[in-house]
Amino acid sequence: MQTPVTDYLTEILHDCGADNPGANAAYIPELANADSDRLGVCVSTIDGVVYGAGDTDLPFSIQSISKAFVYALAIDEHGLDYVLRSVGVEPSGEAFNELSLEKGSGRPLNPMINAGALTTHSLIGGPADSPTERFEKVHRGLSAFAGRNLEVDEAVYRSELSEAYRNRAIANMLRSYDVFTVDPLQIVEGYTRQCSINVTLRDLALMGATFANGGVQPVTGEQVVAPSVVRQVLSVMMTCGMYDAAGDWMSNVGFPAKSGVAGGILGVLPGQVGIATLSPRLDEHGNSLRGVRLCDRMSRDMGMHIMEGAEPARAVVRRDRVLRSPRGGTIRVCSLQGAIQFSGAERVLRLLADDHDKHEQLVLDLRRVSSLNDVAQRMLAEGMRRFALDGIGIVLVDPERFMTDLSSAGEPTVLRDLGDLRSLARLS
Ligand code: GLN
Repeated sequence: MQTPVTDYLTEILHDCGADNPGANAAYIPELANADSDRLGVCVSTIDGVVYGAGDTDLPFSIQSISKAFVYALAIDEHGLDYVLRSVGVEPSGEAFNELSLEKGSGRPLNPMINAGALTTHSLIGGPADSPTERFEKVHRGLSAFAGRNLEVDEAVYRSELSEAYRNRAIANMLRSYDVFTVDPLQIVEGYTRQCSINVTLRDLALMGATFANGGVQPVTGEQVVAPSVVRQVLSVMMTCGMYDAAGDWMSNVGFPAKSGVAGGILGVLPGQVGIATLSPRLDEHGNSLRGVRLCDRMSRDMGMHIMEGAEPARAVVRRDRVLRSPRGGTIRVCSLQGAIQFSGAERVLRLLADDHDKHEQLVLDLRRVSSLNDVAQRMLAEGMRRFALDGIGIVLVDPERFMTDLSSAGEPTVLRDLGDLRSLARLS
């Protein structure tokens, strides 16, 4: 069977690409002259399967999309507190190349605008690192996200640097405010080189899938950055990634994204997919016009808005039975399923609290559970402790060892399988 995903991507490319309004970025000569008919879309799953349509393998410069990855590398290297001292997390509501600084501290408002991204670039490596070493770290990091060695587009680099008056001005201002203390012109060069790294849509989708996969590159299996770093980066992408169109983007499309002036857009659906689109003509905010259309369409068709809630928690209880024990009393066997988080655990505890003191034993069966997050584990452990205090015997069937810490769970009997319920009943 031919997968319908590729056919779907081909169809939306056709629908969203019918006309080609907007204009290429004019301030970088190489981009102004780039082929504006390029159009493509790629979606990568978190197990590294990439679906695509259109120009999926043509290289283009990553530009501002690099800001999200370099922000991730800076946090992974130095810790969030250190990075927050230099760059804030507030949307600026201004164009990407404004010198948007926080009143009082003088920090750039966020890492997704140029002022913030120049600063994040300066944070990579130690103060003793040469500009070459700093760029090498950036380059190695971005390549690790892509799962292959990426190349720099030297023509784009020279072209942007020849006209980088505004970024030089911003960097000089940042230096004058002591936001960083290294040579501002070297930072502009390093940052411009970072923006000139070439990617294909396939690369970009995999880079997004690395974020969607908690920082683990789906193909190489490398943990490129820690999961806590991913959470921070995606939060800032959600609020600041589309510049002064961030509010519109949040309400219409609703997944974290980052755009670049070469016409790329990166989208991330946590736990599901990385998304990449390319179309060089931009709207008035500097975002790819047909790329925004494509993302809007995918979000609607595929329910990708992160505010569209997950599966209701009531699905976590698969079966809830009462069996007769040999001693004449009753045993309650509660079988759970799926991914259990706060609301799922709350539902289980509420259900079990009903007439709980009628039973002499409670069996909590986790065989069909796919994941149990930290809060859910703690809640179930606390529930078990309370049942035990009430004199109810607890049996936990947990072959996958989802409950990693049972120290406060009232010493339940732990089984690998439910086995024969009659022999289980003899346990009591
Ligand atoms: N290199 C570009 C610049 O600094 C990146 C901007 C962008 O992609 N929005 O102007």
